[in-house]
Amino acid sequence: MAFFFLKDPCGIICLLITYSSIIYADYVVLAEIVVPQHGDSKTCSISGCLHVVVFNALLFLLFYSHVKAMLTDPGYVPFPEIAVDFSETRRGSRKKNLNDDDWTVCRQCELFRPPRSHHCRVCRRCVRKMDHHCPWINNCVGERNQKYFILFLFYTGLSCLHALILIATSWNDTIPEQNESQNTYHRMRLIALTVICLLFSLFVISVLYDQFYSICYDVTAIEMGTKREKKSTKMKKQLLIETFGTGSYLKWFFPCSSTHLAQEYRIDYNV
Ligand SMILES: [Zn+2]
Ligand SMILES: [Zn+2]
Repeated sequence: MAFFFLKDPCGIICLLITYSSIIYADYVVLAEIVVPQHGDSKTCSISGCLHVVVFNALLFLLFYSHVKAMLTDPGYVPFPEIAVDFSETRRGSRKKNLNDDDWTVCRQCELFRPPRSHHCRVCRRCVRKMDHHCPWINNCVGERNQKYFILFLFYTGLSCLHALILIATSWNDTIPEQNESQNTYHRMRLIALTVICLLFSLFVISVLYDQFYSICYDVTAIEMGTKREKKSTKMKKQLLIETFGTGSYLKWFFPCSSTHLAQEYRIDYNV
């Protein structure tokens, strides 16, 4: 399976912010909240262990979903193996001789593209069912990686929620063996993590809402406001299956590939 990595400065900065935030959140939750609260207990603290396991599992799923969303081909329309004559389309006609009027020509890529494909200026490729280009995953969100993008948002939201609950429950605790100024710094680190979690939560809630709207009404962010909006006759369940995969619903919560999207996509130019 081919991996894609875009050398886009904005995407790389967002990548560094995301991974730094994960490392910082893990450090603060473990070293500043869970261990001081539960680590000095003579009896084994079950709730402390549980918090460590659950929080790190959420961070792992967040990280893994992010890596999959970032490196998976979002649905790039393949370049033709043989050169195609575009002289007619350059003279103004956007239709071609294939059997579907919704097929269009991308003048940048010089290829025929299937319905609902759009050209991304950052990726410099046409992407099938392109929703938007997201610098936070340094990739387009398209037909093949939308599930990973949504899981990245979902686990980011859960991690933030868990961290905020831990911060709220330990807010009045001080670390006994530390002096007053060290405890002030401890409090400042908690405030910094609270701000990070609130910002990411706001981002996640708004983008998740857009993503589920987009799936349930079968309209991508690019198509919103265009004539295609709400034209789909497919059932919402079918649309969710197309995005999250067939088989057990449990698989929807894990960043594993869904078979129908893992297939290679080819365009037969000899039609
Ligand atoms: Zn293109
Ligand atoms: Zn893109």
